[in-house]
Order: sequence, then C-alpha cells, then structure tokens
Amino acid sequence: MLKGIPSFLKRPGDSIRQLLKSERPQQSIKPELHIVSRDEHPMSRTGISESALKVLYRLKKANYDAFLVGGCVRDALLDLHPKDFDVATNATPEQVNSLFHNARIIGRRFRIVHVRYGRETIEVTTFRAPPANNTAKSHASQTDQGLLVRDNVYGTIEEDAIRRDFTINALYYNIRDFSIYDYAGGIDDMDHRLIRMIGDPETRYREDPVRMLRAIRFAAKLDFDIESATEAPIRASANLLRQIPAARLFEEVLKLFLSGQGEETFNLLREYHLFGQLFPYSEDALRESPEREAFILQALYNTDKRIAENKPVTPAFLFAALLWPVVQKAFAELIRSGIPPVPAMQQAGQQATAAQVDFTSIPKRFSQPMREIWEFQLRLERRQGKRAYLTAEHPRFRAAYDFLVLRSETGENVGELAQWWTNFQESDNHSRRNLVMNSEQHETPVPRKRRRRNYNSSRKAKE
Ligand code: ATP
Ligand code: MG
Repeated sequence: MLKGIPSFLKRPGDSIRQLLKSERPQQSIKPELHIVSRDEHPMSRTGISESALKVLYRLKKANYDAFLVGGCVRDALLDLHPKDFDVATNATPEQVNSLFHNARIIGRRFRIVHVRYGRETIEVTTFRAPPANNTAKSHASQTDQGLLVRDNVYGTIEEDAIRRDFTINALYYNIRDFSIYDYAGGIDDMDHRLIRMIGDPETRYREDPVRMLRAIRFAAKLDFDIESATEAPIRASANLLRQIPAARLFEEVLKLFLSGQGEETFNLLREYHLFGQLFPYSEDALRESPEREAFILQALYNTDKRIAENKPVTPAFLFAALLWPVVQKAFAELIRSGIPPVPAMQQAGQQATAAQVDFTSIPKRFSQPMREIWEFQLRLERRQGKRAYLTAEHPRFRAAYDFLVLRSETGENVGELAQWWTNFQESDNHSRRNLVMNSEQHETPVPRKRRRRNYNSSRKAKE
C-alpha cells in the first residue's frame, strides 16, 4: 500500500528542491537535466528484479546506455512494489535482439523488444522522439484532430523523456552509476505529490486521450493530486475518448478498476466526466436514479478489499456490477411491457451488453459469465425440491450469490433471499432440508416445465 512521501524527500532541510538547487524547469522545448546521485535517492538494486538487472547489465556491457524508466522508477521511489520493469536504451530493437537469445521484437505501432525470463518479461524500448520533433524520416503521423497514430521515431533520451505523459513517469534510473536522470521535474513533483503533464496538457490529451484516464488512475493509485493546468482541460476534452478503439478502452477499464483503488477511481472518473465516456448508459441510469450508485460503490469497495487480500477478482463480475443499473432499467421496462421475468432478464442483459460494446469491448469469455450472473439473480429465487442443491453446485453460483448479497446490502428489495442462501451454505444436510421446506411454503409454485419449454421454443424460433 501507499507509504506516503519517500523518506528521502521528507527529511527536514533536505527537500529535493534544495537538493537540486533550482526550481523545477518549466515545460519547455529544451528539457533541463537534473541528476540525482545514488546516495541522494532511496532506490537500490535490491528493489529491482533480477531479470531487469540482467538486461541492464548486458546492454551496459555492450556499451549501450541502459535505464529503467516509467512506472517502475516512480513506484520504487514511493516504496511501492513495481509490477513490471521497463528498460529504455539507445540500442535499436535489432541491436537489443541480437544481445539476448530469449528476446523477441514485437509490435507494429511501436517496435519494442521483449526479453523473457521464465514468467517475467522485461520490455526494452529504444529512445523515441515526440511527434513535434519529427523529421523527414519520420514514421509518426497525426490525424486532423491531433491524435497520434504512429510514433516510431528513434530519438535521444531527452526527446524520449518529453514524449512521456507525466513528469513522474519520466524518471530514468541509470545502470552506469545508479543515479536518476530527471528531465521534466518529476522528482520535484514527487515531492509535491503531483500528477503533472509534460508539455501542453490539452495538446497531449488530443494526441492520446487515454492520458486523461491515466491521470485519474495514477491520482487514485498514488494518492496524488492532479496539478491544476493538467486537470483543467479534462472535462472539456473527455469526449475525445470516443476516438479510442473499444478494445483499448476495455484494457484501460481493467487497469482503472482492478488495481486496488477502484472505488476512488470511480469517484474521480465521475467527477471529471470521464465515466460517462466509458459507460454512457450506466452514467445515464445513475443520473436518473442516483441511489443505484451505492451498489457500484459497494462492489468496487469489495473488489479493492479482495485485491488487498490477494484474492482473485474477475472482469466478468466487475462489468456485471458496472452495468447493473442499465440492466435493471431495461428489465423494469420489459416487465412493464408484459414480458415474463426470465426472458425479460435475458433480454435486458443482451441489450445492456450490446449497447456497451460500442464503447468498451467485452471479450466473450467475460461477457458470457457476466450475463449468467444477471440471469442467475432470478434463478436464486427458486429454491424448491432439488433446485437449491443444483443451483449451489453450479460454477456460477458463487459470483451470483456475492452479487445478490451486494444487492441486498445496498438497499435492493430482495427480501430475505441473500440471508437464506447464506444460511443454506452454512447449514448441514438436515438444516438444509428444513430451509428448503420453509421456502416451499413461501414460494408460489409455477408450472415451470411448461413455461420453460415454451420459452425455449420461442427463443429457438427467433434464432
Ligand atoms: P503502471 O505499469 O503502474 O500502470 P506505468 O507508468 O508503468 O504504470 P505503463 O503503461 O506501463 O505505465 O507505461 C510505461 C511508461 O510509458 C509510462 O510510465 C510513461 O512514461 C510511458 N507511457 C505509457 N503510456 C503513455 C501514453 N499514453 N502517453 C505517453 N507516455 C506513456
Ligand atoms: Mg508499467
């Protein structure tokens, strides 16, 4: 978890500004280099993965420049565990590739090298130039709106630094002398706990609107503020996210909500009008019925808690929760139009999914279980005879039960159903029989076989 400002930045009289003996540079065309020597920062080789060190040393031995860069330096300075290690170098992908037997050049948009050590992959990137520095041999291009579509132009480390998004993501750990190279004022911003865009924020959001989501993600993850000029254009630029392919946004949504700070991220996304760009129908449903927010907040709170406890979390459950207000709304409308509950729930799920995939894709392996979680909510109501036993053994039961508990906890009128299933799971066989018998007294028997056959055959007819 977050440990706060790194101790080396906290020592009285030893602020990093004094350490560097100058104010942070303004964002300018010419970046100014500050070098923080090895004894002036707390990053040590013990916090760096063995594999990353191997890559760095091999590059150094071959006389190339080699740096750790990006999230791993930022997180290591904050005493967080970096999740992966990225290396930046002046060697070309081909040169890197020829140094390692376990390397592979990948990517069309960006050519980068993956060096594999068992399950760990170290990403090695050649210094790249930002689009503004493109020369005649440029491979980068922008659309009329300024969206950057390719940028595979090699550059110097200075150029590489200023094409990165935030100052705290542009710190380079030099394997030659273990110092940190700071071209954009990132150390100073770490000191002030600020997310600051490198360059003109509006232009940089236009180049890549996903940077708006990244600003929110890092603010939530690190508990940093977004610097005022960096946050100013976000609301007005939020709709630029429509230019981003749904598949990329799906990946970003997972990072936003499954990194352990989902609840805080959700609040920030709503505050900056970004949630509605990712989940427009959920946003609409929440505006119409603000009380539905409690369910999503609780789902995200529980997810964060599971992540903190190292328990598994699934995109299917996450999307089931984020789209639940949409499903509920569609379900209510279908019921009003006279459709019976089971097919109404199926159709509502279908509609909510079909509408969402224009914005974020949802791969089938997640959309299928997501829809089952919704459909199971009705199945959980039926507990007669052997049904409860069969339901409890179904692979989707656990997620559906958790979902039901959430609904119950956040004010949905599900009666004693959640408690009933809790009791059922905690009971021995004898008590289970009693529970089922009791529920039979309350349930109105329905001629299920006939109804189901009718429904299935009408569905088949439609297909
Ligand atoms: P984390 O891995 O914890 O999500 P990260 O900062 O490492 O955070 P990555 O997506 O792994 O994020 O990217 C690595 C680095 O590449 C970033 O730190 C940043 O310097 C640069 N980068 C990534 N995405 C962008 C972007 N959209 N625009 C500019 N620079 C970017
Ligand atoms: Mg990273």
